[in-house]
Amino acid sequence: MTLQQTISQLANQCVLCGLCIPHCPTYRLFRTENESPRGRISLYKALAEKQFEASDAILTALDHCLGCRACEKVCPSQVDYTQLNLLGRKLIASEYPLSQHSLKQKLSEKLLTTPSLHPLLKFSAKAISPLNAMLSRISPKSKEESIEKEESKSSTLEVLQSLSRQMNSSSSQTPPVQGFYPAAGQSNPQVTLFKGCSGDLFEQQTLLDAITLLNACQFDVLVPDKQQCCGAISARQGDTEHMEILAKQNIHQFEQLSSKSQALISVTNSCTGQLKGYNQLSHLSGANELSLKVTDIVSFLARAIKDNLIEFTPLGTKKEGEDKNAQHIIGVHIPCSLKNVLKEETLLFDLLKKIPDIQLIKISDQYCCGAAGSYMLQYPEVADKLLDEKISDITPQHYQTIVSSNIGCSLHFKQGLEKHEAKIGRKVDVLHPVRLLARQLIKT
Ligand code: SF4
Ligand code: SF4
Repeated sequence: MTLQQTISQLANQCVLCGLCIPHCPTYRLFRTENESPRGRISLYKALAEKQFEASDAILTALDHCLGCRACEKVCPSQVDYTQLNLLGRKLIASEYPLSQHSLKQKLSEKLLTTPSLHPLLKFSAKAISPLNAMLSRISPKSKEESIEKEESKSSTLEVLQSLSRQMNSSSSQTPPVQGFYPAAGQSNPQVTLFKGCSGDLFEQQTLLDAITLLNACQFDVLVPDKQQCCGAISARQGDTEHMEILAKQNIHQFEQLSSKSQALISVTNSCTGQLKGYNQLSHLSGANELSLKVTDIVSFLARAIKDNLIEFTPLGTKKEGEDKNAQHIIGVHIPCSLKNVLKEETLLFDLLKKIPDIQLIKISDQYCCGAAGSYMLQYPEVADKLLDEKISDITPQHYQTIVSSNIGCSLHFKQGLEKHEAKIGRKVDVLHPVRLLARQLIKT
């Protein structure tokens, strides 16, 4: 079956009922059929069947999809929107390779997923602004893009600058996290930690805290140095070839370790979802075996931490060097990958409740926060609007710490909160849940 026929077949599963539409964040913002799941399915079908040539406005509407999978979760016909979106993007990348969407996608994908290019992130803030201006001149803006611009707040340049600041603060805690981290005692079970392409870059302390907690649960931890991006960002761009190259390298790397390790643990929900999805690459040897071993740090620790063996200091108890105003109220962000892909959000609450006296407030999770891999770089204005809704009700009395178990969402929140700091009246910390747990851990 050709790519076009597969897209057409997947699209034909949609009965056009429209039940998914109210759940779509881009429909909520733009209120047009093309910015809804049903509209995108129809557009992909029409493009695959060559009913018309895609205009820039149509490519924009398709590219605006965040891949949050909220539509998929509520669809009564179980349309495989994720697969359709992946193949639809692949079709566009091959048929419209010089569109500004394809060029921007390729650029941001390579920048984020290639570790050897990461130093460029620090300098790309200066380069991206003229590049964006050039791309805009090549292709005039659609009506929707013009609306975005009129109400715009962030730019790609500002997002890059924020990422660069966050990268600098994280990488001050070098060296890279890699090697063997044994727990106390002998003959402990072993697990392997997946740090992906951005763990060392933005969340070194989260990786170290995950190891501390796993060691406290009596697991030896192996962190292989030769590991690749999980492929989630390439998948979002429809770059299935690059996605498979990364998957093959990860499978090869981890299958050598599989006999010793009980689990392959990822510290960010979107990577966990992508690694679990390797089972759909059944033509790759070892893909299914690897996917069965994948688990998220949240669900693994929620089950592994035995209440009578590991203790945590109650939140709100002042620890040495801690802000004297530390509160026990925590805002909990639920990433789409945790809610719609892993479907393990209750385990996040179970895990956090292991800290005595903690009070948890769930941040509105009706819509995606807008991070969505490289989306916050490609469409910062749309990403901004989605995030604003989530942080608009934060007050100093409300909570001073937000936890998020997805690195991309954390970066996006940090960038948004930086901008809103004056309005909120104080700094709000954004932490991975394991950082909060490790901070409160009573070491024996
Ligand atoms: S994945 Fe999310 S943004 Fe994309 S069509 Fe579905 S609900 Fe809308
Ligand atoms: S809910 Fe499913 S079947 Fe109904 S319009 Fe949306 S994708 Fe199509």
